[in-house]
Amino acid sequence: MGIPFNKPYLTGKETHYIYEAVSSGKISGNGMFTKKCQQFFEERYGFRKTLLTTSCTDALEMAALLLGIQAGDEVIMPSYTFVSTSNAFVLRGAKIVFADSYSNNPNIDPVQIEKLITNKTKAIVVVHYAGIACDMEAVMALSKKHNIYVVEDAAQAIDSYHQGQPLGSIGHLAAFSFHETKNIIAGEGGLLAINDERFVERAEIIWEKGTNRAAFFRGEVDKYGWVDVGSSFLPSEVVAAFLYAQLENLEAIQAQRKHIWEYYNRAFQAITDKVQLPTLPNYATNNGHLYYLVCNDLDTRTALIQHLRAQNIHAVFHYLSLHKSPYYQDKYDGQALPNCDHFSNCLVRLPLFFELTDAQLEKISQAVLDFFGE
Ligand SMILES: *Cc1c(COP(=O)(O)O)cnc(C)c1O
Repeated sequence: MGIPFNKPYLTGKETHYIYEAVSSGKISGNGMFTKKCQQFFEERYGFRKTLLTTSCTDALEMAALLLGIQAGDEVIMPSYTFVSTSNAFVLRGAKIVFADSYSNNPNIDPVQIEKLITNKTKAIVVVHYAGIACDMEAVMALSKKHNIYVVEDAAQAIDSYHQGQPLGSIGHLAAFSFHETKNIIAGEGGLLAINDERFVERAEIIWEKGTNRAAFFRGEVDKYGWVDVGSSFLPSEVVAAFLYAQLENLEAIQAQRKHIWEYYNRAFQAITDKVQLPTLPNYATNNGHLYYLVCNDLDTRTALIQHLRAQNIHAVFHYLSLHKSPYYQDKYDGQALPNCDHFSNCLVRLPLFFELTDAQLEKISQAVLDFFGE
């Protein structure tokens, strides 16, 4: 039996809660389970307001609508990220301005951001890669100084912190993912966190197809209608019920994932002269989302992935830089992004999922050490 890269973990309560949701007779969105999930996030992490969405992609699209992004606006973000970070803003006609990563960390480098700010810059989107915080102190200082919004793509960053503050609570808006590859899953699902009071009311309207339906159901208005642009961003209660079962087990899931992360990190201390391990800045925590190694070059990485594959261990590379993607390369007129290219060519992710056993961890770690001749 091989070791897959990912295996979705079920706590056992998912189908029970789905059954409950279905038999309650209320299975469209914004019902009891949706409220329970949103309340969980608001209470545990202090987000001003949260809205469950059908994906992180949707939450990012809501963010772009809320910020009023229009044709000609510039949005700064890393190139080393998933397409949705960029697509949400491209859909509104924005010009994407890619900033490079640090040399020792795939996260966006605020020094590079500052050089790219113009009077057209409307937003900075940061991505907390591997659930490890970006330097939010520097990013928020740029936001204040230049009057620019900050969106946190916190897809990978549940239950992770920057100087003790939960990720997703620092930018004006933040987006989380519950895709089956993330720590907490719902198949497909996401969450928009709204930290800036000015966006709270409109966010709910955009979420409910441009209507004030949510206010109507709270009895705040006596009829509801079309009041703004919007779309159907809310998931059904079936999704929320699944998610709630996961959230109830957050502590156990996080503890096990961090155990795996730390196991790898200890095992690979022996090869730090041959491969780069994740860097954890002193302001950041690790949430056990993913464990990666950065090889010195593409050939080494290809050989490492093949070496592991020969032992039925599935390790995978990550992110082809967006500025070199088939869709964007002829639209990109910016600078070379050498650090981003380096991670695209050299980074490899190891299996990390709840049910990974210590015996499997031992096997994977030994296979990596063998490859590097240890
Ligand atoms: C997973 C991920 C997304 C997309 O999440 P979905 O819920 O699948 O839409 C966006 N950004 C980053 C950084 C991700 O890792």
